[in-house]
Amino acid sequence: MYPPKIGYVIPENIDETFDFLEDHEDARPLAGGHSLIPALKLRIIRPSYLVEIRRFKELNYVKFEGGKYRIGALTTHYDISKAGVPLLSQAATKIADPQVRNMGTIGGSISHLDPAADYPASLIAADAEVKIKSKKGERTVSFKDFAKDMFTPDLNPGELVVEVQLPDLRNYKYSYEKLERRAGDFAIVGVAVLLKLSGDVVDDVRIGLTAVNNVAVRAKEAEEELIGKRLSQELIEKASSRAVERANPSSDIRGSAEYKKKMVKVMTKRAIINAIGGKI
Ligand SMILES: Cc1cc2nc3c(=O)[nH]c(=O)nc-3n(C[C@H](O)[C@H](O)[C@H](O)COP(=O)(O)OP(=O)(O)OC[C@H]3O[C@@H](n4cnc5c(N)ncnc54)[C@H](O)[C@@H]3O)c2cc1C
Repeated sequence: MYPPKIGYVIPENIDETFDFLEDHEDARPLAGGHSLIPALKLRIIRPSYLVEIRRFKELNYVKFEGGKYRIGALTTHYDISKAGVPLLSQAATKIADPQVRNMGTIGGSISHLDPAADYPASLIAADAEVKIKSKKGERTVSFKDFAKDMFTPDLNPGELVVEVQLPDLRNYKYSYEKLERRAGDFAIVGVAVLLKLSGDVVDDVRIGLTAVNNVAVRAKEAEEELIGKRLSQELIEKASSRAVERANPSSDIRGSAEYKKKMVKVMTKRAIINAIGGKI
C-alpha cells in the first residue's frame, strides 16, 4: 500500500527530461501511473526518481498523416477510444474501467508490456511501429521487435517511447474480442482481427492474440487458412481451430491452459464474424 521513498522530478520540457534520464539510469518516467504506481505500492520496484512526463501535451495526439495513424505516447486510452483509429480505438474501449482509461496511456501500456494487456493484439495484427527517442537521437522499430518478452520492451536507459504508428487500415473490417471474468479485468484471452475482402473472398487477414503467450503473437496458421478463400461458416470454423496452434497459455487464476486454448478458438471465431458485421 505504501510506496518506498522516491525523488520526484517535474521537468520543464522534453529535452530536460532526456537530460535527467540520461544522468539517472534507474529513474522511471511517470505517464498515467496506472501500472507504475501499483508496482511501487507493492514495492516490486524501487527507482531513485519518478520523472513526470504526463503533462507534455506535444506527446498527446492522434493524427492521420503521411498515410499512417500517428499516436503520441501520452495519449490516454480514453482519447484513443474516441479517435476513430480502426481496431485500436475499439480495443481501447475494452481496457480496464473508465477511471483507468482516463489516466492510462498507450506509451505506458506498451512500455510496461503486461502479457495480458489489450493493445498488443491489435498492434501485432496491424504491424504497428514504435518511435523511440533519447538524448542521442531517435529510432523506429516494429512492435514485434519492441515486445522482446513479457515486461521487457526494447528500451535502453534514457529512452522514451514517443509515438505509435499504424498503417492505413481504412479498407479493413476489424474486431477486437476480449474474454474477461468481470468488466474491468485483464483479458483471459484477447483476439484482434483485421480483414480485407474482395466480395466475400479474403484478400488479406491479420489475427493477433494476447494473454496466451509471453508476448502477443500472430495466428499465422489461421491466417493462411483464410487467405484467398471465400468466407463460409466452415472456413471460419477451421481457421479458428488453427488459431490455437499459436497459443501457449499458462494456467492461473483466470483459467486453466486447456480452457484458455479452447477460448482462443471461440474468440477468434467471434472476432471474424463480428468483423464482417455478424452476417455469414
Ligand atoms: C485496475 C487496473 C486495471 C487494468 N486493466 C487493464 C486492462 O484490462 N487492459 C490493459 O491493457 N491494461 C490494464 N491496466 C493497465 C493500464 O492500462 C495502464 O494504464 C497501462 O498499462 C500503463 O500505462 P500508464 O500510462 O498508466 O503508464 P505508467 O504506469 O505511468 O508507466 C508504466 C511503465 O512504463 C514506463 N513508461 C511510461 N510511459 C513511457 C514512455 N512514454 N516511454 C518509456 N517508458 C514509459 C514507466 O516508467 C513504467 O515503467 C489496468 C490497470 C489497473 C490499475
